Amino acid sequence: MTSPSLVNGETASTSQSILRPSLLFRTRLTILLLMAHATTVAAPIVIAHRGASGYLPEHTLAAKAMAHAQGADVIEQDVVLTHDDVPIVLHDIHLDAVSDVAEKFPGRQRTDGRFYVLDFTLDEIRQLRVSERRNPTTGQPVFPGRFPPEKNAFPIPTLEEELNLLAGLARSTGREAGIYPEIKQPAWHRDQGHDISPIVLEVLRRHGYDAPEARCHLQCFDATEVRRLRHDLGWKGRLVLLVEDFPRDISPAEDPLLAAGVLDDLARTVDGIGPAMARVLDDDGSPTRLTAAAHAAGLVVHPYTLRCDRLPTFAANADALLTALFTEAGVDGVFTDFPDVCVRWITTHAPASSRR
Ligand code: CA
Repeated sequence: MTSPSLVNGETASTSQSILRPSLLFRTRLTILLLMAHATTVAAPIVIAHRGASGYLPEHTLAAKAMAHAQGADVIEQDVVLTHDDVPIVLHDIHLDAVSDVAEKFPGRQRTDGRFYVLDFTLDEIRQLRVSERRNPTTGQPVFPGRFPPEKNAFPIPTLEEELNLLAGLARSTGREAGIYPEIKQPAWHRDQGHDISPIVLEVLRRHGYDAPEARCHLQCFDATEVRRLRHDLGWKGRLVLLVEDFPRDISPAEDPLLAAGVLDDLARTVDGIGPAMARVLDDDGSPTRLTAAAHAAGLVVHPYTLRCDRLPTFAANADALLTALFTEAGVDGVFTDFPDVCVRWITTHAPASSRR
């Protein structure tokens, strides 16, 4: 052990004084360790889920610009392919819940009544206008208090257009937001004769995102595809496996992710998991074991989705939910439709030294 006198710059000349520097040393060491902890534990990140989608129609460039202006650390892109293999930013493989496709292209639905992005070229997609999400069966808005669905002035962006927007904002504002692209339904795309993953990777690589330190988390629900991205397609950047909510017949304590070796095995491929919120917070809002177990395996945890207009029953308000997520469960970030609310919580609660 290092001599206290070397650390403290004090000499121990009597038997009594030997104890005092030793106590001083331990006290100072404790303070130093606490300071080191405070500066190395990063504040949780705010991931703008489909942009600032609580305020503007999801995945429009307007929603992305607003998320950036609200201080989101990271902005999410869901990616699907057009018929001519152009990656566009849209949540669904269908167009009908968020666009005027049924009016613009009557008769182009499949036998299930749905209009598929893959059946439309980019030129056709560019003729559509996006609105706030509606239930495609009833036509009613999914979130009634949000942006009026009849106001639909927004085009559907390509992935490239969104990355250019964010690069432009990084330059004009001096603040770079990270990206969080999700490859949507890769197995379904392949069944339809379109291999989405290599196409998305090519765009991300061209924009400099394929490096471990790049401000990009690539995400997917498909565990097989996640392994393919890492081990066959050579993705070097950060990678997150999304995990859906529990089947109704099991409890958080029985989470299959907690079975022996599962998280350690995942950590050989991914950097983190993106679980449904119910996997990290119990019905009463107390933390499940998942976050601590994932951290022990070296994985970050980014649950989805905080919506101020659809809070879980245990949370009286968004701040209570954020305290449960960040302070009690200790997650590393959260997907949210309301980036401003989460940024405000972190600004108030996280130590200034840990903010990015
Ligand atoms: Ca997503």
